[in-house]
Amino acid sequence: MNKLRSMPRVDDVLSLVQAEQKTQNISYAELLNCVRETLDKTRKDVLSGKLEQVPPIKEIVREVVRMAVKQCSGSLRPVINATGVVLHTNLGRAVLAEAAAENVKQVARQYNTLEYDLEAGERGSRHSHVEKLICKLTGAEAAMAVNNNAAAVMLMLASICKDKEVVVSRGELVEIGGSFRVPEIMSMSGATLKEIGTTNKTHADDYRKAINENTAALLKVHTSNFKIVGFSQSIGIEELSQIGKETGVPVLYDVGSGLMVDNALVNIADELCVKECIKGGADVVCFSADKLLGGPQAGILAGKKEYIDKMKKNQFARVVRIDKLNLAALESTLRIYLDEERAFKEIPTLANLAVSKSDLRIKATKLQSMLPERKKDFTSVIKAAESQVGGGSAPGELLPSFAVQITPVSISAAEMEKRLREYETPIICRIRQDKVLLDPRTIFENQFEEIAKAFNEIF
Ligand SMILES: *Cc1c(COP(=O)(O)O)cnc(C)c1O
Repeated sequence: MNKLRSMPRVDDVLSLVQAEQKTQNISYAELLNCVRETLDKTRKDVLSGKLEQVPPIKEIVREVVRMAVKQCSGSLRPVINATGVVLHTNLGRAVLAEAAAENVKQVARQYNTLEYDLEAGERGSRHSHVEKLICKLTGAEAAMAVNNNAAAVMLMLASICKDKEVVVSRGELVEIGGSFRVPEIMSMSGATLKEIGTTNKTHADDYRKAINENTAALLKVHTSNFKIVGFSQSIGIEELSQIGKETGVPVLYDVGSGLMVDNALVNIADELCVKECIKGGADVVCFSADKLLGGPQAGILAGKKEYIDKMKKNQFARVVRIDKLNLAALESTLRIYLDEERAFKEIPTLANLAVSKSDLRIKATKLQSMLPERKKDFTSVIKAAESQVGGGSAPGELLPSFAVQITPVSISAAEMEKRLREYETPIICRIRQDKVLLDPRTIFENQFEEIAKAFNEIF
């Protein structure tokens, strides 16, 4: 038992832990718990022989601090996205604009006009906050927002196509992220899928032949996460809308990403802007608000008033309704779009996509210059790289970029990636050929200092 004589006292460890800067926001009770747990474990390890002797108090304090920070840092928390994937589905998709985040905070902390009409002094509609904005920005007659785009598709089908047939090209029967499959959503909504064409080719005549008295709609689905290349053909929204008009059948379009500006402005070739889809004659379009639109999680439906009204009245609308915090963020984000120049400055998704290669090189150089000089641990160079749009947008398209390429010396690339990921502010990055890449496209300049700090502390 002699071995345990040098075991420090709880109070001594605790006061040293409390003096550390990293524990300033952690409660006394939580710190005390961590001290007890650490001392208990140390005692057990010494008795079992796993530890030869009690470690110095400094080491015990460090272990307690690490444990406390880890336990108190929450599960859903911010990370630094150094992957260059602009809409990273696992990292929360779009980052909100400052004005949108601020509006969320205001609305969250006070009573608000969610369903209250200030002019009339009576009950108002939740839809009123964004409908006019969406109409103005897309050219649609009417609009509404729901929980997400999967819900929007479901509500659209349930309201317009229940117990009837919906014609869809076999080339567009997509699965998005496993839990959203067009055929399954279709059967859940009560509509019957009528597949036409083949995987690689669907012609205008295939649509015409499929229409009968039981047809409720023609549905077009954007193939968000894959691309059919080579011998392939599908028909565009204008031609499809023409068939819809001739036959009196509504045309519905799940455009997926919700791009609100001309695609050339964001360096993407394959995504159609929502306005073009409405102009092309679609009766209803639906899209996500947290993909290329750059807003909060939401699904937007826009189009002819008779169909939007049907959806607003459907019982299912209540099940998939948007909550006040997302609505607050959505309204602010859409408002920014009224001034396109402002949108490119303030909406991070647009800014990150539109940034020029030369600006990325400058950004990469700045980040590199801030990293500590530790030649024994790692070296760095600026290298041409490619970033991705991500989030089921522009499949296969790569955005030319510059990255800071780190060559680890004292540890492996995998170990470096792990230590950065487990850092207090987790830094998520890619490995390419045993080197760690930091892509400045998705790193905000105010995060550079934190990254520099990490490169000092992880060794
Ligand atoms: C992403 C996507 C969806 C699902 O949208 P969520 O907002 O994630 O629910 C549906 N359809 C298409 C074509 C998509 O790209």
